[in-house]
Amino acid sequence: MARKLCTVCEIRTQYTGTGVGVDDAPHLSDMCNLCYTEGGWENTHSDEGHDAETMDDDCWICHPNLNRAARPAKERTGHTNTAPKGPAHSHNGCTHNANPQGRAACRKANRWDDTKGWIAR
Ligand SMILES: [Zn+2]
Ligand SMILES: [Zn+2]
Ligand SMILES: [Zn+2]
Repeated sequence: MARKLCTVCEIRTQYTGTGVGVDDAPHLSDMCNLCYTEGGWENTHSDEGHDAETMDDDCWICHPNLNRAARPAKERTGHTNTAPKGPAHSHNGCTHNANPQGRAACRKANRWDDTKGWIAR
């Protein structure tokens, strides 16, 4: 039986791929397990509207370092002007507006300290 490639990444064979938090792609999904898991997180991430306050510790979209579904090279090109997203940190202890602009200004003016939170650079 021929092994078919995942229709999403076109890199891995369908129904392959294992790792922490990786779900098995259901039969007939035509995806590898990693792309299936990534798709599930993309849905959860947008459905729950994750941001720095509501992020899920296991979410592959909030935490790109957890994402084991390597994107195809063709999708990576053309986005060179987008800065890679660093890990998101909570702004619960901050006084600025709880919106993307407030958080962006905070990230610019401060740096994250694992024990103290956001501190001035
Ligand atoms: Zn795939
Ligand atoms: Zn998320
Ligand atoms: Zn902040």
